[in-house]
Amino acid sequence: MFDKILIANRGEIALRVIRACREMGIKSVAVHSTADADAMHVRMADESVCIGPPSGTESYLSIPAIIAACEVTGAQAIHPGYGFLSENANFVQIVEDHGLTFIGPTAEHIRVMGDKITAKDTMKELGVPCVPGSDGGVPDLAAAKRIGDEIGYPVIIKATAGGGGRGMKVAQTAADMEEAFMTARAEGKAAFGNDEVYIEKYLTTPRHIEIQVFGDGKGKAVHLGERDCSLQRRHQKVFEEAPGPCITPEERAAIGKVCADAVAKINYIGAGTIEFLYENGEFYFIEMNTRLQVEHPVTESIFGVDLVREQIRVAEGMPMSFSQEDLEINGHSIEVRINAEKLPNFAPCPGKITQFHAPGGLGVRMDSALYDGYSIPPYYDSLIGKLIVHGRDRAEALARLDRALGELIVDGIDTTLPLFTALLQEDDIHTGNYNIHWLEKWLDANMG
Ligand code: ADP
Repeated sequence: MFDKILIANRGEIALRVIRACREMGIKSVAVHSTADADAMHVRMADESVCIGPPSGTESYLSIPAIIAACEVTGAQAIHPGYGFLSENANFVQIVEDHGLTFIGPTAEHIRVMGDKITAKDTMKELGVPCVPGSDGGVPDLAAAKRIGDEIGYPVIIKATAGGGGRGMKVAQTAADMEEAFMTARAEGKAAFGNDEVYIEKYLTTPRHIEIQVFGDGKGKAVHLGERDCSLQRRHQKVFEEAPGPCITPEERAAIGKVCADAVAKINYIGAGTIEFLYENGEFYFIEMNTRLQVEHPVTESIFGVDLVREQIRVAEGMPMSFSQEDLEINGHSIEVRINAEKLPNFAPCPGKITQFHAPGGLGVRMDSALYDGYSIPPYYDSLIGKLIVHGRDRAEALARLDRALGELIVDGIDTTLPLFTALLQEDDIHTGNYNIHWLEKWLDANMG
């Protein structure tokens, strides 16, 4: 049993992990940059260590500083949250070399899934359906053009090392190929130091459906259904729900089993998400995230399980506390991401919170590290909170979201909250009739 866990992260996700630790009777250690000395995760943890200056590279991404903080405090394990070092295989290796436990998958699994070409090959072999496209990397423009003609336009060119919506370019016709191919390569090189790209058929009206999986590292794994994260801006999710409004119980059981079997076969440990595009009743694998996701609370809400607690348990070598038969969906859950950004351009808007009031009541969960008088530093991601609601069905969840948005007060800065109030006026949101392009089109028409 761990006595003490260090959380190599900040903001709402650091608080989220501290909460699980406290309920399990485990002490928590917060790490922070000098800019985060007054942050809520520092106040809530049992201990805290300053690990560097404001810049993320010199603090939350500084492996030596984080390992040293474990040694100083006697923490036995590290929870990485999401972002920062959560999908850094090298970090996992170093953690283990120091006799510490990484709460997450093995370095090898992170490496395989972090390279999109290798991930796709692996998934294909494990029987997971994939988007038609090139067989691995595409060496040059001539090959790219040949593949484009073969699979038919439109196509998407993706950097194998890409992430966060970067390193992806669409070629609508053969005439666009040269520019798209060169740009995707250049972006891959600039952002991730790797210019290898591959090509996929570009699906025109898909939904983004992802399956939550969980493994014990010993060949046992379950799935916790799907999340629909189709409402995206620039390939970034803004509104997520579970279950997916268009997925039938039969589809869920079938694709869920494919995913659980796949991760069981590779002895996957901990939480993971297998992302698909879904069009005309077919699922197409796009990538696997080997960590806890921002939107994990909607899954927790409908299944009534604590995924962080489960991550800690399996990292300790304990069995999962549920099996597939125990997992039953109860109601519907929706999450909206609250960013410190100014509409209509979504420009980052850090600054001082003059007043904060979190909504409450039945079926409302607010995951945020905000407080009255808190100054949001300009150095990090603009996500400042997540509002998650749960209802007996989708209509009740939407009504509850509307009600909770009305109670939530975040004064002093601009946020993305007005976007959600406006979206709730749209019929398509109430009928669940949207795909991955719906929000961009809506933004162009309403905030362009
Ligand atoms: P990232 O790692 O940058 O998040 P993903 O591969 O997960 O990249 O893709 C992110 C988003 O890009 C998807 O949710 C979808 O909106 C769009 N996308 C990716 N691949 C395709 C495709 N083959 N066809 C259409 N849209 C795609």
